[in-house]
This record gives sequence, structure tokens and C-alpha cells, in this order.
Amino acid sequence: MIYLKSEEEIQKIRHSCQLVSRSLALVGQLLRPGITGSELDAQAGQFIRDHAAIPAFKGYNGFPASLCISINEQVVHGIPSALPMKDGDVVSVDCGVLCEGYYGDAAYTFAIGEVGAEILQLMRVTLESLALGIAQAHEGNRIGDISFAIQEHAEQRHGYGVVRELVGHGIGKQLHEPPEVPNFGKRGSGISLKEGLVLAIEPMINLGTRRVKQLKDGWTIITQDKKVSAHYEHTVVVRRDRAEILSDHAVIEDSVKNNKELTGIA
Ligand code: MG
Ligand code: MG
Repeated sequence: MIYLKSEEEIQKIRHSCQLVSRSLALVGQLLRPGITGSELDAQAGQFIRDHAAIPAFKGYNGFPASLCISINEQVVHGIPSALPMKDGDVVSVDCGVLCEGYYGDAAYTFAIGEVGAEILQLMRVTLESLALGIAQAHEGNRIGDISFAIQEHAEQRHGYGVVRELVGHGIGKQLHEPPEVPNFGKRGSGISLKEGLVLAIEPMINLGTRRVKQLKDGWTIITQDKKVSAHYEHTVVVRRDRAEILSDHAVIEDSVKNNKELTGIA
């Protein structure tokens, strides 16, 4: 069932989203060639617990870690591993927390060291697609307006692959609530957006084919052609005239700017 959040509830979701953003900023500080996903996961998990919250992904349907870390051709749901990261890796990190009964969710894609212009462009366009989707998340519009804006920019304008199998979602007392927020669709379709509807909007955009498959670990989603994928996510609340973004990429971008091992796009 779709329900609209009160301002009190939105404040709690905002609080969780801020902690998610700061956890991702911590990841942005720590990322460098040689670090492992397991190390990042341990640090972020501790950071979340130190702030009186619970890592939302750990144990979710049996997921084994606090962060999803998806590298290069991995799209989403990558399991943090003991493999050292290396120069040229494209690292998508997704984080969720639960605090005072409400979830927050956000994701960011980082580039370690030297990354080709083609990949930086993919990252930039994915982030732009997210912004264009969010710009549609106001009263008077429908879910499909968000979906269409993302697809139009990534697929029609830039020729990238828009993943169909995984979508954004409502969020609040549950990590995943109705409605679904696909990254593709028709303008004017789907449910009407009302003030207080809280959505996680999260384009997953592939350099090549939109087709994906799941690894035998039961989690990791990869591109079928093994080309790179990017993923950015914000939790937002629908407002009368324009969406309010509850998570915060600026704090993550600051950590990227201050980390000379990373190439920034923002
Ligand atoms: Mg997420
Ligand atoms: Mg999400």
C-alpha cells in the first residue's frame, strides 16, 4: 500500500538519509588502489552503528554485508570482497540505514585513479539522469514522468543501456515500499505524485547493452556484455512544486574532491 509520510516521519527519513550520505562520504575518503570491499564494508558498518543506526542491507533477504559494492561490469548488489581494488576501477556503492524505525537509501559511483573519458561520460550522464528524474517528482506529475525523463536522457540522448530488471522504490518504514520507480517508461503513466510520497530514485545505466544477468552468488547483477555500469541514487520527498532531496551527494563529492586517488565528475 502506498502511503504519504507526515513531516515527522520525513524528518526521520531525512536523518537516516544524512547518515547514509556521510557513510558514503567515508567510503569516498577511504577508496584507493589496494583497499578491499570488505574493509570499506567493515568501516561503514561500524560508522553506522556508532551513530545509533542499523545497516539496512545486512541480513536483508540474507544479504551478507552493510554495503553493496559493485565494480566495473557489476551493476548493483555486489558483495564486498577481499579482492584489492585497482587503478581504473569504477566502484558503485549503495548504502541503506535504519534509524528510529525509518530507512534511508542512497548510492554513488566512484572512479579510482585513471578512468577513460567514455566511462566518466557514462557516470556524468547517469548522475544527470538522476537529476532529471528528480526534477519530475512534484505534485501534478506521475511516476512515468520520472521514468521517462531518466530513459530519455540516458537511452535516447546518449545511447546507453537502461536496466529494466531493477527499479527505484518507495521507502519509509520499509526499505522497499510501493510504488516501483522504473528508469524507463511513458510520460503521464503510473500513479499520481502527491506531497509526502517518499521515493528512492536510482538509475542503473550501462555503457553497452541494457541486458543483465545474476552471478551464481545469488546477488551480484552484471552486464551481459561485461561493459561498465553506473548507479546513483537519492531518496527524495515529493513536494508541491519541486522534490526535496533527503540524501546528500554534496558531502560525498567533497570527499571525492579531497581524495587524490579518485577522479571526480561533479
Ligand atoms: Mg540503494
Ligand atoms: Mg534503493
